[in-house]
Formats: sequence, C-alpha cells, structure tokens
Amino acid sequence: MADVIDPSTGVLLTRVPGMGLAETDAAIDRAQRAFDGWRNVAPGDRARLLRRFATVVDEHLDELADLEVRNAGHTVGNARWEAGNVRDVLNYYAGAPERLSGRQIPVAGGIDVTFHEPLGVVGIIVPWNFPMPIAGWGFVPALAAGNTVVLKPAELTPLTAIRLGELALEAGLPPDVFQVLPGKGSVVGQRFVTHPAVRKICFTGSTEVGKSIMAGASDQVKRVTLELGGKSANIVFADADLDKAAAATPASVFDNAGQDCCARSRLLVQESVYDKFLSMLEPAVQAFRVEEPSGDTAEMGPLISAGHRATVASYVEDADVAFTGTAPDGDGWWFPPTVLLARSTGDRHWREEVFGPVLSVLPFRDEQDAIRLANDTSYGLSGSLWTRDLGRALRVSRAVETGALSVNSHSSVRYWTPFGGMKQSGLGRELGPDALLSFTDVKNVFINTDS
Ligand code: NAP
Ligand code: MG
Repeated sequence: MADVIDPSTGVLLTRVPGMGLAETDAAIDRAQRAFDGWRNVAPGDRARLLRRFATVVDEHLDELADLEVRNAGHTVGNARWEAGNVRDVLNYYAGAPERLSGRQIPVAGGIDVTFHEPLGVVGIIVPWNFPMPIAGWGFVPALAAGNTVVLKPAELTPLTAIRLGELALEAGLPPDVFQVLPGKGSVVGQRFVTHPAVRKICFTGSTEVGKSIMAGASDQVKRVTLELGGKSANIVFADADLDKAAAATPASVFDNAGQDCCARSRLLVQESVYDKFLSMLEPAVQAFRVEEPSGDTAEMGPLISAGHRATVASYVEDADVAFTGTAPDGDGWWFPPTVLLARSTGDRHWREEVFGPVLSVLPFRDEQDAIRLANDTSYGLSGSLWTRDLGRALRVSRAVETGALSVNSHSSVRYWTPFGGMKQSGLGRELGPDALLSFTDVKNVFINTDS
C-alpha cells in the first residue's frame, strides 16, 4: 500500500495497493495473450476505438483534472490542459492505424513489400511530474500501432492513470489491451526490464534510473525510448524584445513548480543588458501567482513531496539569491520562485537539474560565448533564445545541442511535433508524425513471382 498525499496540504488522500511481482507477471501474461486479438482488430475499428476513448476522456476532463490538482498539486489550468492533451493525443494517433503503410520496393523476379509490425507488449514507466501527458505519449501510439500496454505510474501520483485505465474499458477497448499497474519502480518497473514478453520500454524520469533501464534492456536487446532530465538554457540577446522576454521568463522555469524536464532553468543574458534585464525580471517573478492550485488564478502550486522540497532547498542554501517570489505558508510542500546568481559554471545549481522553482543566471559576452555556455552540460532537452536577428536565431538554433528549441517563445510541446532529448536527456522521440514507428519493427517480405 502506498500513501497518496495532497501536496498542497500534506493530507492523506487515499492509499493505493502496489502490485507485487506475481501480480505484475500475471498482468504481463494477460497483455501478451491479448496481443494477437488487438493487432488483428481491423485498422478502421482500432481507430474508432481510440476516437471513442478520446471522447470518453473529454467527457471526464474535469474529473481527471480535479484528481491531478489534488494528487500532484498542479494548477487547475495546467491539469485541464493535461487531460485535454491525453484526448488530443488519442485523436491524433487515432488517424494512424489506417495509415501505417509499408512500402513496395522494386526488385527483379518478384515483389518486395515492407510491414510495420507491432512489437508485442510495451511497458510504459511514468514519473510523477506530468502523470497524464507522459502516460498518453507512450500508451497512445503504442496502442495505435497494435501493441498491448502495461503502464506503471509513479507511486506518488497513480490516480489519473488508474482512472484512464478504467475509462479505456468504458470506451470499449478489449480487456487487458491497456492495463495500469501501480507499484514500486524497483518491483513493477524493474520487471518490465527483465520480463521477456515486454518488448519495449518507454521510460521518463531521472537520468540515473534511465541509464539502468537501458543497461538492463540490453540483455534482451529490448527497445527503449528514454526521456530523461534537462538543464535547458534560455538565451536572451541584447537585441531581443526584452519586455516580452522578461514577461515570459517566469513561466518558462516556474511552471509546474519547475518540476518539468523542459524547464529553462539556466538564464543566459547578454552582458550589455544583464542589469537591465534582471531589473525587469524581478517584478515579473514577484507577480507570479503561487497559490492554492484549485483556484483559477494560480500559476504555480506546491512541490510534489516533503522530501523533494528538502532536495530543492539544498540548492539554495549557500547560493547567491538575487530575488524570490512568494508562496503561501502553512501546510503543504510550498517553495517560492527563486532566482540565483551563478558565481561560475561550476555552481551546483547551475550544473544539476534542480527540478524545482529555481532559476540560475549568468551573463554572456557574444553569440559564440552563449552557444558555448548553453552546450556546457550533459543534458540537451529543450531551450529558448530571444533575438530580433533572424540569421542569429537560425545559427544559434542549429548550434545549441538540444532536441526541442523555441525562438522568441518558450513552447516545446505540441502533440503533432517531435519531442525528445539529445545527449543524456534521452533517446528517441515522442509525439509527432514519426513516434508511431518506434512502436513497430519493419518486416521485409520478398515474394517470388517466377513461374
Ligand atoms: P525516478 O526514480 O527516475 O522515477 C521515475 C519512474 O521510474 C517512477 O515511476 C519510478 O517508480 C520508476 N522507477 C524508479 N526506479 C526504477 C527502477 N529501478 N526500474 C524501473 N522503474 C523505476 O525519478 P524520481 O525519483 O521520481 O525523481 C528524481 C529526479 O529525477 C527528479 O528530482 C528529477 O531531477 C528527475 N526527474 C525527471 C523527470 C523527467 O521528466 N525527465 C521526471 C521525474 C523526475 P516509483 O514511483 O516507484 O519511484
Ligand atoms: Mg527515484
């Protein structure tokens, strides 16, 4: 049994039984038995079932959002977007089953055709920071391509995933095609790695656990998609629209209380506008609304747990604090938005993923310096740059080693564009037109037509 706690109050919401090894094995066996039936559902029927699932999610959007507000402390605005994202991803990949075509390749003496075969059982391991979207980015294309799915939510945030599993059945998905298995990472998640029937793992979480999953998967040459940490840069050039850049900066790092692998947690400002930009940023940070997350005006809620708050606080203890925003006092795992001045690129808060509402700032000299500093990290997930110079925008976009970049904006996630990391931020891409194929293997068939 795992306690499920409301992070905005610290109050116990419910307790959820965790699956043991035998139950996990039984679920994987059921998923394996369901595979043949599911892959053979006619493409149009599979598409219709996914669309119906999307409709059912939409009908329960407020309920799902409310669960996430209470379980993860997400602001209600974010939580509604997240439930809507599951719906949208379902609708997007509902267009896939009838379009999953192979090729016909010219050969002598016959015909040659390719098929995108589903893999079998796919295991999805989800972290606590975005329980609904990250689940959907895995299970939806996996199902659309004809795989069956076992999904392990994070122990801290299992409630929306469990509900999505119920809604799938309500929508008419056959039993055991999509199963949600709450439990420990070291038990349920680890079994996905070692069980031979699980043919692929989609893991999102810490780089440390991601590496261990990749190492474990090598034993069976199991496919993996990894979405790991980030330490993304937000680069502000002197020629940028500084008003817009300053106004957009707080949300780029404090959204979801900074518990976002895409958080732009390193701010690089060109030295000629450094003081000016910080003076513009301060009121924007102070105005950022950290409030009880169920209220419509909240822009940020609490951190996920007491333990995580202690970890985040440890980064601020000996650092130079430029300024902070506000946070409610009282119960719950609250932490104010905090802006730190890095003394050098060696500072722990500059180098490590804090995963909290903490922004580290450094000045840079020129374009080359900005690129060098942005790339001075083992991560490469997202990032932003602000400039009015189109040539510079393109040069810097190409030079920064990161998977998803935005110019004069901080957006990095659209369900119809690819998302994923370079370097140690991950392996493979989710979302967009190509993600589907990573849930298939190509089979080549030659048919001899000689008489
Ligand atoms: P984590 O340990 O990597 O957990 C992510 C998921 O993996 C959870 O479902 C977890 O299960 C599971 N897991 C843990 N150990 C496993 C194992 N040996 N085999 C299989 N699955 C396993 O991350 P965390 O401890 O929650 O967070 C630690 C740090 O990771 C954060 O502070 C942050 O820096 C980073 N992080 C990054 C992301 C991201 O989006 N890239 C997301 C979350 C965390 P349990 O629920 O049982 O732990
Ligand atoms: Mg962990």
